[in-house]
Amino acid sequence: MTQCYIQCDETLPVKCDDCDWTGTAGQTEMISDIQERLTPGGVVPAGQCPECGALAYPIQDGKEAAKPDDSDDPQQPELVELARSVFADGSDNDIEVDDDAALSHGNDGIWVQAWVLLKNDVLRENGLSNPEAPFDDEDEKDEEEASA
Ligand SMILES: [Zn+2]
Repeated sequence: MTQCYIQCDETLPVKCDDCDWTGTAGQTEMISDIQERLTPGGVVPAGQCPECGALAYPIQDGKEAAKPDDSDDPQQPELVELARSVFADGSDNDIEVDDDAALSHGNDGIWVQAWVLLKNDVLRENGLSNPEAPFDDEDEKDEEEASA
Protein backbone atom coordinates (compact mmCIF):
# COMPACT_ATOMS: atom_id res chain seq x y z
CA MET A 1 0.00 0.00 0.00
CA THR A 2 1.25 3.45 -0.82
CA GLN A 3 0.06 6.67 0.76
CA CYS A 4 0.02 10.05 -0.83
CA TYR A 5 -0.54 13.46 0.63
CA ILE A 6 -1.64 16.08 -1.87
CA GLN A 7 -0.15 19.45 -1.04
CA CYS A 8 -2.76 22.17 -1.28
CA ASP A 9 -4.33 25.02 0.64
CA GLU A 10 -5.48 23.40 3.88
CA THR A 11 -8.50 25.70 4.08
CA LEU A 12 -9.78 24.61 0.66
CA PRO A 13 -13.42 23.48 1.04
CA VAL A 14 -13.81 19.87 0.01
CA LYS A 15 -16.60 17.35 -0.26
CA CYS A 16 -16.55 13.57 -0.08
CA ASP A 17 -17.34 11.82 -3.33
CA ASP A 18 -19.28 9.10 -1.55
CA CYS A 19 -20.84 10.20 1.74
CA ASP A 20 -22.11 13.64 2.71
CA TRP A 21 -18.97 14.70 4.55
CA THR A 22 -17.71 18.17 3.84
CA GLY A 23 -14.78 19.94 5.41
CA THR A 24 -11.45 21.42 4.47
CA ALA A 25 -8.50 19.90 2.68
CA GLY A 26 -6.57 20.01 5.97
CA GLN A 27 -9.07 17.61 7.54
CA THR A 28 -8.69 14.94 4.88
CA GLU A 29 -6.47 11.92 5.27
CA MET A 30 -3.60 10.73 3.11
CA ILE A 31 -4.81 8.86 0.04
CA SER A 32 -4.11 5.13 -0.05
CA ASP A 33 -3.10 3.53 -3.35
CA ILE A 34 -3.71 6.73 -5.28
CA GLN A 35 -2.33 5.17 -8.48
CA GLU A 36 -5.35 2.87 -8.63
CA ARG A 37 -7.88 5.58 -7.94
CA LEU A 38 -7.10 8.41 -10.33
CA THR A 39 -8.18 8.79 -13.94
CA PRO A 40 -5.93 10.67 -16.36
CA GLY A 41 -7.51 14.00 -17.08
CA GLY A 42 -9.77 13.74 -14.06
CA VAL A 43 -9.91 16.14 -11.15
CA VAL A 44 -7.25 15.51 -8.52
CA PRO A 45 -8.81 14.89 -5.11
CA ALA A 46 -7.69 16.95 -2.12
CA GLY A 47 -7.45 13.89 0.08
CA GLN A 48 -9.33 11.00 1.52
CA CYS A 49 -12.59 11.38 3.45
CA PRO A 50 -11.97 10.89 7.21
CA GLU A 51 -15.47 9.40 7.53
CA CYS A 52 -15.60 6.75 4.84
CA GLY A 53 -12.22 6.69 3.08
CA ALA A 54 -13.59 7.72 -0.34
CA LEU A 55 -11.85 10.49 -2.26
CA ALA A 56 -12.74 14.06 -1.34
CA TYR A 57 -12.73 16.71 -4.06
CA PRO A 58 -12.46 20.49 -3.85
CA ILE A 59 -15.78 22.33 -3.97
CA GLN A 60 -15.63 25.04 -6.60
CA ASP A 61 -18.03 27.96 -6.86
CA GLY A 62 -20.31 26.35 -4.32
CA LYS A 63 -20.78 23.19 -6.31
CA GLU A 64 -18.81 20.04 -6.71
CA ALA A 65 -15.89 20.12 -9.07
CA ALA A 66 -16.41 18.15 -12.23
CA LYS A 67 -15.30 14.61 -11.68
CA PRO A 68 -14.63 11.91 -14.20
CA ASP A 69 -18.23 11.24 -15.23
CA ASP A 70 -19.41 7.67 -15.21
CA SER A 71 -16.01 6.22 -16.05
CA ASP A 72 -16.34 3.63 -13.32
CA ASP A 73 -19.14 1.77 -15.10
CA PRO A 74 -18.19 -1.92 -14.77
CA GLN A 75 -19.45 -2.46 -18.35
CA GLN A 76 -16.88 0.01 -19.69
CA PRO A 77 -14.78 -2.55 -21.64
CA GLU A 78 -17.91 -4.08 -23.22
CA LEU A 79 -19.27 -0.64 -24.07
CA VAL A 80 -15.99 0.25 -25.77
CA GLU A 81 -16.08 -3.01 -27.73
CA LEU A 82 -19.69 -2.38 -28.77
CA ALA A 83 -18.96 1.19 -29.81
CA ARG A 84 -16.08 -0.11 -31.92
CA SER A 85 -18.21 -2.75 -33.64
CA VAL A 86 -21.10 -0.35 -34.27
CA PHE A 87 -19.09 2.69 -35.36
CA ALA A 88 -15.37 2.14 -35.81
CA ASP A 89 -15.40 -1.21 -37.65
CA GLY A 90 -17.70 0.06 -40.40
CA SER A 91 -15.87 3.34 -40.73
CA ASP A 92 -13.21 4.31 -43.21
CA ASN A 93 -10.62 4.04 -40.42
CA ASP A 94 -11.72 7.49 -39.38
CA ILE A 95 -13.48 6.60 -36.12
CA GLU A 96 -11.55 5.25 -33.17
CA VAL A 97 -12.48 4.47 -29.58
CA ASP A 98 -9.85 4.38 -26.87
CA ASP A 99 -9.71 1.56 -24.33
CA ASP A 100 -10.19 4.13 -21.59
CA ALA A 101 -12.92 6.08 -23.40
CA ALA A 102 -15.00 8.25 -21.09
CA LEU A 103 -18.69 7.44 -20.68
CA SER A 104 -21.70 9.62 -20.10
CA HIS A 105 -25.01 8.04 -19.22
CA GLY A 106 -28.10 9.64 -20.72
CA ASN A 107 -31.76 8.72 -20.64
CA ASP A 108 -31.69 7.52 -24.23
CA GLY A 109 -28.36 5.73 -24.16
CA ILE A 110 -24.75 5.82 -23.06
CA TRP A 111 -22.33 8.17 -24.80
CA VAL A 112 -18.90 6.69 -25.43
CA GLN A 113 -16.06 9.08 -26.17
CA ALA A 114 -14.60 8.52 -29.62
CA TRP A 115 -12.11 10.09 -32.00
CA VAL A 116 -13.12 11.13 -35.49
CA LEU A 117 -10.37 11.72 -38.04
CA LEU A 118 -10.47 14.71 -40.34
CA LYS A 119 -8.31 13.39 -43.14
CA ASN A 120 -5.77 15.59 -44.88
CA ASP A 121 -7.80 15.77 -48.11
CA VAL A 122 -10.91 16.84 -46.18
CA LEU A 123 -8.85 19.47 -44.39
CA ARG A 124 -7.47 20.74 -47.71
CA GLU A 125 -10.93 20.90 -49.26
CA ASN A 126 -11.99 23.15 -46.41
CA GLY A 127 -8.96 25.38 -46.50
CA LEU A 128 -7.41 23.91 -43.37
CA SER A 129 -4.02 22.34 -42.92
CA ASN A 130 -2.39 19.66 -40.81
CA PRO A 131 1.08 20.70 -39.63
CA GLU A 132 2.00 17.00 -39.26
CA ALA A 133 1.05 16.03 -42.81
CA PRO A 134 3.96 14.88 -44.97
CA PHE A 135 4.56 17.08 -48.00
CA ASP A 136 1.93 15.98 -50.45
CA ASP A 137 2.74 16.32 -54.15
CA GLU A 138 0.06 13.98 -55.44
CA ASP A 139 -1.72 16.75 -57.30
CA GLU A 140 1.48 17.68 -59.16
CA LYS A 141 2.15 14.02 -59.94
CA ASP A 142 -1.31 13.68 -61.44
CA GLU A 143 -0.66 16.66 -63.64
CA GLU A 144 2.69 15.29 -64.79
CA GLU A 145 1.12 11.94 -65.63
CA ALA A 146 -1.69 13.64 -67.49
CA SER A 147 0.68 15.70 -69.62
CA ALA A 148 3.08 12.78 -70.32
ZN1 LIG B 1 -16.99 10.04 2.91
